[in-house]
Amino acid sequence: MSPLLEVEDLRVAYGKIEAVKGISFTVEPGEVVTLIGTNGAGKTTTLRTLSGLIKPVGGHIAFNGKPLRRYRADQIVKLGLAHSPEGRHIFPRMTIEDNLRLGAYLRNDREKITKDIRRAYEIFPILEERRRQAAGTLSGGEQQMLAMGRALMSQPRLLMLDEPSMGLSPIMMQKIMATIGALKAEGTTILLVEQNAQAALSLADRGHVMEVGKIVLSGDGNDLLHDESVRKAYLGED
Ligand code: ATP
Repeated sequence: MSPLLEVEDLRVAYGKIEAVKGISFTVEPGEVVTLIGTNGAGKTTTLRTLSGLIKPVGGHIAFNGKPLRRYRADQIVKLGLAHSPEGRHIFPRMTIEDNLRLGAYLRNDREKITKDIRRAYEIFPILEERRRQAAGTLSGGEQQMLAMGRALMSQPRLLMLDEPSMGLSPIMMQKIMATIGALKAEGTTILLVEQNAQAALSLADRGHVMEVGKIVLSGDGNDLLHDESVRKAYLGED
């Protein structure tokens, strides 16, 4: 099987600041791959580049065999790449249901959209309870669920999640991670960016450790979880 996503020697800069310095990795269909690393390692920049929000200065990205650099951000969503961004970016004054519908803005298959909203409510029952409420009134964890639900509404072939556990209580974080596990069990392909290395590596088939714009270590999620250098640097062990 050929990879769903292929990133080769990707380089991204903000003016003179090189944020991503030639990284390569793949995501196979049905896999959960995680990028972990400290603040400023370039993880968010990588996801934003894959989504077409930032133009890379070099390298190659192929999604489902198509070279992504030729496509605009909205076209990339249409190709099947969805992004649940860091900090959620929900629309606070709109209702929860309207936020979900917005995730399907490039689709016109109304019946299927309604079905997918029902599915989002099955995954996140709290969103159904609050469906007519303004999204800004949700708690942080609930807003994270809404951001994930909205990303799923574009029927993605690849779901990119940027720090879904950020700012959440341990219980809420466990809930979000369990949901990602459930999506994985359904066969959803996921690229997960996380600062919580323990949670991310426990879930992921494969992981890559990023440091200042480079991938410094790659391996199976479980192997990285037990790797001594990873445990020291990212899991707070001596
Ligand atoms: P975090 O876990 O803290 O979110 P990250 O791994 O996602 O970190 P990025 O947000 O991709 O890291 O940032 C990578 C580098 O690029 C950092 O040095 C950051 O300061 C820089 N950077 C990010 N966005 C911009 C921007 N808009 N303009 C200039 N520099 C930026």
